[in-house]
Amino acid sequence: MGNCVFCAIRKGEIPSAKVYEDKDFMIIKDINPQAKIHLLAIPHTHVPYLDMMTEEGVNLLGKILHKISKMQDQLGISDGYRIIINQGENGGQTVNHLHIHIMGGEKLKDM
Ligand SMILES: [Zn+2]
Repeated sequence: MGNCVFCAIRKGEIPSAKVYEDKDFMIIKDINPQAKIHLLAIPHTHVPYLDMMTEEGVNLLGKILHKISKMQDQLGISDGYRIIINQGENGGQTVNHLHIHIMGGEKLKDM
């Protein structure tokens, strides 16, 4: 976690477009958006992968998903959105600090 970009963002060492933050996680704009709205929900605790999550961490993921659904107007995704968690090399995970992609703001292409 010494050179983790998301941990550095959390500490304010790297600037980011933060749209939300509470005691558990933050939501920032993706710097390379793949949709009209492309946000990242990032738990504050540094955990690289799902299989390394504690039960508490997994419960937090559920809380984050629910929070996103409650914030959909504020996030500009009230007409629908897609949530993706990339895992590992084949999954296209580029930062090894577990994070949730939130995409919307337009009709997304079929997967
Ligand atoms: Zn990290």
